[in-house]
Formats: sequence, C-alpha cells, structure tokens
Amino acid sequence: MRLSRYFLPVLKETPSEAQVVSHRYMLRAGMIKQNAAGIYSWLPLGFKVLRKLENIVHEEQIRAGHIPMLMPTLQSADLWKESGRYDAYGPEMLRIRDRQDRDMLYGPTNEEMITDIFRSHVGSYKDLPMTLYHIQWKFRDEMRPRFGVMRGREFFMKDGYNFDLTKEDALHAYNRHLVSYLRTFERMGLQAIPMRADSGPIGGDDTHEFLVLAETGESEVFYDSAVTDLKFGDRDIDYDDEAQCAGVMEEFTSKYARTDETHDEALFAQVPEDRRRVARGIEVGQIFYFGTKYSDAMGATVQGPDGKVVPVHMGSHGIGVSRLVGAIIEASHDDKGIIWPEGVTPFHCGIVNLKQGDAEADAACQSLYDSITALGLEPLYDDRDERAGGKFATMDLIGLPWRITVGPRGLKNGVVELTCRRTGESEELPPREAVARIAEIYAGMEVRGL
Ligand code: ATP
Ligand code: MG
Repeated sequence: MRLSRYFLPVLKETPSEAQVVSHRYMLRAGMIKQNAAGIYSWLPLGFKVLRKLENIVHEEQIRAGHIPMLMPTLQSADLWKESGRYDAYGPEMLRIRDRQDRDMLYGPTNEEMITDIFRSHVGSYKDLPMTLYHIQWKFRDEMRPRFGVMRGREFFMKDGYNFDLTKEDALHAYNRHLVSYLRTFERMGLQAIPMRADSGPIGGDDTHEFLVLAETGESEVFYDSAVTDLKFGDRDIDYDDEAQCAGVMEEFTSKYARTDETHDEALFAQVPEDRRRVARGIEVGQIFYFGTKYSDAMGATVQGPDGKVVPVHMGSHGIGVSRLVGAIIEASHDDKGIIWPEGVTPFHCGIVNLKQGDAEADAACQSLYDSITALGLEPLYDDRDERAGGKFATMDLIGLPWRITVGPRGLKNGVVELTCRRTGESEELPPREAVARIAEIYAGMEVRGL
C-alpha cells in the first residue's frame, strides 16, 4: 500500500478522553473512531489488525476440530424466556421491539440460539462430539464503557459451544479449548495466563479466564511466577488425544494463578514467597463447562448408545477479538507508539523514502515495494512529500515491526537501512539483502492480508 493513497488519519494531539495507552494510540494512529459511547468504527488500519486476529482465531479453532458458522446479532427474546435468562440478564441486555411489537434483543452471547439450533437438528449420540463456533458482534450495555475497544458496548467476540454425550467428553472439549487458546494467544505475541475464575451469569463449576498481564488491567491477579515461564511453543498437539490435552491443561493450570474473584490467601501463602506475584491483568478469553444447564432448560437431548434419551453436556468458550487489539497494544508499546508483534502487524514493513521525487530514491523504493509484495507480504510505502522526521514519527506511532529507509546518500554506497521497531537497532545493507531479511523474518508465518 502506498501511504499517499491510503486512509490513515493520524492525530498529532493526544486525545484527552483516552485514559489508557492502547486507547490513546488507537485514536492517534487512526485505527478507530468513536461513534457513540462504547461503539466504534474500525478505520482501515484498525480493521486490518482486527481481521488478522479473526483469521488467527479461525485457523486455530479449525485446527482443533471446531466448526465455523455464523449466527445473527439480533435475536428473538423467546429463546431467552425459555432459558430463564431474559429476566436474569439485567440492564446489560439491549432490548428492542420490532414493528410487530415482538421482543427482540441484540445478542450479548449465543447459548440459547445455538442450543435451539442443536435441538432442531441433532438427535443421536452418533453426531457427537460436536463443537460449533462463530465470530460475531455482540452488544452489552456496559454501565461504564471505557478504555476504548477494551470495554466497549458493541464488541467482536468468538464464541464456541461444545455438545457432548458425557461429562468426560465435555471435559475433553474444555481441555481442547484451553490448548487451542494457549496456541492462539501465543501466535498473537501474547502471554495469556489461564486463571481459575468465577462463572458469573453463565453458570457452571469449571471455568478459566485467560489474562494478559498489564498495569492497566481491570482485574487484580495473584500468581506463582513459575506460570510465566511456561510457553506453548510449537508443540504438535493431537486434539483428539484426551490424555495429551489433559496433560497440557494440567501443566498450565496446576500452579497458583487466580483473579481477585477466586483468590484464596491461604493457598497463595503456600507458594514460595519469592515467586508470589500480585499484578493486574486484562481478560482476553474464558472457557466454561456448565453441564446440562441449557440442555435441561431447553430440551437439547440425544439418544445414547443404550437407547436412552439424555440431555447433552455443554460448555461455552469465548475470545474477545476486538478487546485483544487493545490488549496487544497494552502489552507491546513504547513512548513513541505501538510495537506490533509480527504475527498481527497490519503491514509487514514500512518503506520510508527520504527524498520523494529523487529519481534514484523513488526507483529503489518501488523496487523494494515490488520485491516484498512478490513475497506475498504487504509493505506500507510512505511516498508522501514530507519531512523525514514526520515520516519516522508516523511509522513509529503505527508500530510496524520493521522499517526500510531509503535515501540518496545510502544509495550512493549501494545500501538502505533496516530498522527494528522493538530494539531501535538499524543496519545498513544492500536492498536485495534487506528483502531477504524481511522474507526470513516472516517465513513460516501465516501472512494472509486484506
Ligand atoms: P468482563 O468480565 O471483562 O466483563 P465477561 O467475563 O463478562 O467479561 P465473557 O462473557 O467471558 O465476558 O466474554 C468473552 C470475552 O469477550 C471476554 O473474555 C472478553 O475478552 C470479551 N469481552 C467481554 N465483554 C467485553 C466488552 N464489553 N468489550 C470488549 N470485549 C469484551
Ligand atoms: Mg469472562
């Protein structure tokens, strides 16, 4: 993309309404625009990151054997009356009446709708196990929308639902989700720690939240520092293998890690003192096993192998896709701007032309642009007629992990400059080698663009 043809409305001033760094940088980098409290338009740069996260979530869900679909944002209230949650959900639910005077709502989640779909079409244990998911906008009329997209009212969420014959199978689904989430967050360059949590309005006994450590997090968290040494890495998991999934679950959840809702001082005191940590975290995902709560209420049953009709065991599993954009920035930035992890960056590298209009510099930039594009990668070429300082400030603010700087002086010596956004380190090298380095950095990474 050429910056002169793109829509990147960066702001020079720091917006006064933004209290946390991710909100400030998302506004300044022209990623979002607020349309109403907690409701945002995703401008081109923000939309690109959102789509990248969505793609990663899809890939990892499909890898785990879960089936993508799409349910609507608007729901009829009838199903919620059936489950008993229409009254229980409270003022966070946006209730709407259509022209026929029917009660509708903007879905805050989809347990009821998916249970209805399931009971309409599935009647035998032979169709199980089954996990269906979608990635769709949700609405919760939060009392205090704040921190930009991190606590919005309209937000983008992946929610998945497993249907199993037995509790044992449903716990395998739970573990499978935990494993797939660990992999998902790591691909996004994040360390998200599973913590034992409270089940809230969804109900059920087993639940873990995934928290990203950040000073601005809304939850207070207590953990054994040994959990931060755990890495998922490039393990090759067989998601059908119950023992393997249970092993990963055990490895990542056996150390003490809890939010303030479930914190237990006496248990925490058993962690060696030098490993006890109290910090803040951002919830980016949650998994639940809730047994037959919805299948009992709504009659979602299957005929088992013995011919008996039994309610299915269910769980639901969410990832806050739009919140993650903010959470990644909270975890990865400096005082100049965002620093995108390579796995989610909106463009793979920037190209800065120090002397736009200089025939040699223009040709060198164009050639770099073509070579990098030919690799299947997306460069952002700052071809505007602007001062170098302004171009660098924009690149630093929008946080592309790599920048190639091209100027007449370097070109005389046959070199361009390759700069790493994270370390600030620069290296002079011939243009062809700079391209090879970019290729190497992104080798093996999914690089689907938009
Ligand atoms: P919270 O405790 O932060 O209100 P929750 O536990 O009510 O969230 P879930 O029902 O578990 O939320 O939803 C799944 C995921 O959706 C959460 O882990 C979070 O990442 C995201 N999410 C929830 N509410 C919001 C919101 N208002 N804005 C953005 N993302 C949200
Ligand atoms: Mg939650």
